Amino acid sequence: MTATPTAGLTFPVTPSAVPVSEECRAEILAAPGFGKHFTDHMAVATWTVDAGWHDAAVVPYGPLQLDPAAAVLHYAQEVFEGLKAYRHADGSVWTFRPEANAARMARSARRLALPEVDEATFLEAITQLIRADEAWVPTGGESSLYLRPFMVATEAFLGVRAAREVKFLVIASPAGSYFPGGVKPVSIWLSQNYTRAAFGGTGSAKCGGNYAASLVAQTEAAEHGCDQVCFLDAGERKYVEELGGMNLYFVHDDGSIVTPELTGTILEGITRDSIVQLAKDLGHEVSERRVSIDEWREGVASGRITEVFACGTAAAVTPVGRLVSADGELVHGGGAAGEVTMAIRGKLLDLQYGRAEDTHGWLRRIV
Ligand SMILES: *Cc1c(COP(=O)(O)O)cnc(C)c1O
Repeated sequence: MTATPTAGLTFPVTPSAVPVSEECRAEILAAPGFGKHFTDHMAVATWTVDAGWHDAAVVPYGPLQLDPAAAVLHYAQEVFEGLKAYRHADGSVWTFRPEANAARMARSARRLALPEVDEATFLEAITQLIRADEAWVPTGGESSLYLRPFMVATEAFLGVRAAREVKFLVIASPAGSYFPGGVKPVSIWLSQNYTRAAFGGTGSAKCGGNYAASLVAQTEAAEHGCDQVCFLDAGERKYVEELGGMNLYFVHDDGSIVTPELTGTILEGITRDSIVQLAKDLGHEVSERRVSIDEWREGVASGRITEVFACGTAAAVTPVGRLVSADGELVHGGGAAGEVTMAIRGKLLDLQYGRAEDTHGWLRRIV
């Protein structure tokens, strides 16, 4: 990149003249669902080759004006992040390891030939947005304010090269409990027709293109009555990688836990990383190594694998009840949520919601 990232932009707030009414907001927060409603403001900053990052602000939420030739619309030069703000029982609002999201966004940006947003600017953008829209942070249950930082190539140019004009934005959306009726195991479709990521590709970058490429597999999963897709490695179609947007864990009969190792084609989930630590805190032996689909099948058949779960910011920890493929179906733990899965889930949520001591220094107070 030609311009060096500008350290620590500030985000002055222009309050919305037409915020959502209190009654209307209360109605939304009573049943927010996921990703359907958006707060009154958004954070935005612009980058150009010549000026670097500038024009940072929190402004009223609203549509973007994009030139139809904007590079992102043609060549998908885009990266994003996902994290949550949690309201604690005393009313305070906290984020969980936002520095890790900032670092990952910088890595994703490098892979997509986008400029980096430095950590201080990333943290300031989410902090000012959450403070401006604090009333949108729900209370109770496993609700939260979901934050979506993202970066798009806005330069109007159809030539193929890294864009010279880019926007960084953060939007926020209230999210209800992922499992309003209690934790329910998901069923997973094993994708044997499609892969998600190959060596040298963009698998370890959080970019929209990876999701675009996974949608047809997701449709196939739905056609087979499954909630999520599991992808295998693109080289040998043998090793388990991850789901479309969640990392995987295997629990063994001796209490040891395994998650597929990061080989460059797996997204480095912050929840995944946190669970490596939390499971160790709970006394589990945790290893990161390759897990083949045969090991998964044989492990369940022999009773060596007792539980399987998926993890990510949106759902925290999700038990996997079934693995379905063209070759048949595997059921874990009678299709019910496992004990170890639920203990790890509880430990993570207790930390995020301030019900347990933050021994790793992962929480950052915003309000
Ligand atoms: C975001 C994402 C995850 C989960 O990451 P978290 O930081 O835990 O939310 C896992 N896999 C993919 C492909 C993702 O995009």
